[in-house]
Amino acid sequence: MSNPSAKTAIVTGGSRGIGRAIVKALAEAGFNVAFSYASNQAAAQEVEAMVKGFGVEALAVQADAANPAEAQALIEQAHKQFGRIDALVNNAGITRDGLLMRMSDDDWAKVLDTNLAGSFYTCRAASRIMLKQRAGAIVNISSVVGVYGNAGQANYAASKAGLIGFTKSIAKEFGSRGVTANVVAPGFIETDMTESVPKEKLIEHIPLGRLGAPEDIAKAVLFLITSGNYITGQVLHVDGGLVF
Ligand code: NAP
Repeated sequence: MSNPSAKTAIVTGGSRGIGRAIVKALAEAGFNVAFSYASNQAAAQEVEAMVKGFGVEALAVQADAANPAEAQALIEQAHKQFGRIDALVNNAGITRDGLLMRMSDDDWAKVLDTNLAGSFYTCRAASRIMLKQRAGAIVNISSVVGVYGNAGQANYAASKAGLIGFTKSIAKEFGSRGVTANVVAPGFIETDMTESVPKEKLIEHIPLGRLGAPEDIAKAVLFLITSGNYITGQVLHVDGGLVF
């Protein structure tokens, strides 16, 4: 077990995109970081080396967010290695887009299982540790689409809207033990997920006139984790002004 007084964070889906930027921001801020990934081992190894470059500890775990046993094992493994869990960021997410009338049961279930149930599994496991510690910060990554809706993304929007109700509820459950739970709702961010999105058209609707960078989201997440413990149950929109 490492130095038990060092701050420790867990990030799901930390090997690429927004999750990678969150892992980097946390490591830069002095957190030991455990992160999960789905299958991209090369990317995970690169992130692990990057974290260690900041002089903190890293733990990369291949764990499917949608698998309850693997999600729980991620939390337990990180706790065993680092001795405490100060922050949990549920970032792993997928899309399986399609119009509702043609959406398969599998596309519905995969997205809900990964994006919504995945956060339930990790929050449940982490809550047992954080409530005992009487401290901890949970940040769940939703989306502008969970607030605003989007044609062709009924499954994704339902999962991201569900995360907001879920987070507000656990904020109420955990508050008396000093554990916070908040949501960051990104707009359109330049990652592999948005590679095929028509960017010129989107930008017309973004008051700040650009897509976001993964670092824009990481800064908001770090703020919620490190700015004390009097913000909870909130949805922080980081979307260039797309929704307000
Ligand atoms: P991304 O570039 O596709 O990266 C996804 C990350 O999640 C990768 O590290 C991937 O691991 C991991 N992952 C995927 N499925 C997983 C699973 N079942 N279990 C564990 N890890 C899994 O996505 P992103 O754009 O960074 O999005 C990150 C989060 O932000 C998602 O929740 C997404 O819904 C949300 N979001 C994104 C945008 C946007 O514009 N990009 C906007 C709003 C919200 P591998 O490397 O192994 O594949």
